Amino acid sequence: MSVSKVSWRSAEPAALLDLAAYQRLIGLDGFAPLPGVPDCELCGAAEAVAVRDTVRVSKAVTARLATRCCRCCGLLFQSPRFEPAFYAAYYAQTYRHLVGWGAAPDPAYVADQIARGAALRRYLAPWLPRAGRLLDIGCGAGGMMVDFRDHGWAVRGIEPDRAAAAHAATALRLDVIACDAEVAELPPAAFDLIVIAGSLEHVAAPTPVLARCHDATAPGGLLLLEAHGLGQAACLGAIGHNHRRLFTGTTFRLLMLRHGWDPLWVTDRPICGPTRPGSVFALGRKAVAAAPGVLDATIARGLRDTLQETRARLDRLGIG
Ligand SMILES: [Zn+2]
Repeated sequence: MSVSKVSWRSAEPAALLDLAAYQRLIGLDGFAPLPGVPDCELCGAAEAVAVRDTVRVSKAVTARLATRCCRCCGLLFQSPRFEPAFYAAYYAQTYRHLVGWGAAPDPAYVADQIARGAALRRYLAPWLPRAGRLLDIGCGAGGMMVDFRDHGWAVRGIEPDRAAAAHAATALRLDVIACDAEVAELPPAAFDLIVIAGSLEHVAAPTPVLARCHDATAPGGLLLLEAHGLGQAACLGAIGHNHRRLFTGTTFRLLMLRHGWDPLWVTDRPICGPTRPGSVFALGRKAVAAAPGVLDATIARGLRDTLQETRARLDRLGIG
């Protein structure tokens, strides 16, 4: 794959690409889309309805790639999907071109990360030990860990973009492992707080990521999730092509229950500051194990996003 051929801004205005043309644009046309609609990653149901037919690639480019809503739990997810190697190649090499990084991440992006991390540490202080051990999954340039480190925390990051991980290690002197979160080798019960800020919407599959996070969390440890996709879509008027799934406060609660965390709260307050409007956050505490049947029972009691609610939310937010 030659990422130098990727030309994000050269397409004709308002170009609508079919899936094959989109794959050529991002330099990943060697991957065939997987057949059919995947089962819901959250509840396992096999019935999902397309609620939007296209995604936004850039200001000038839209692509035919549907977003579906699970009829059982309400999870929004991109379909069709590709094999994991597609996403591995995309995030190792291509994604940085999309977000405008060159050889190193944009200094303004790094500064924003540092500010968001400081705001997050202050907000979470009532739930945190004075100094603990932090793991940031999908840490980018690592900026969100800086304020934690400066307040005595031991910090480690996981980041698939090799250049961003290298920048975090050299420029910010952070311990960052360059790999995909699905295959990261993490020490057991080693972290008091795991942060996944906007990254769970990008990974190839959340289930192995959250299983590894559960094993790596110390007894009583915490998981902080941020969903950025719907907030970004509301700002841009369309769902972004990078978000493989989109979470709400409800689907975050269900996700935590399924994977062995007790949800403590969800909020749409800007707890990381004002630069990512519309983000939703959830904090959970590690349970001993995921209770069998708890997800189905919770959905049956009514904690779910219905298709009708989801359609109304997308319309209300102006997401076309
Ligand atoms: Zn579902």
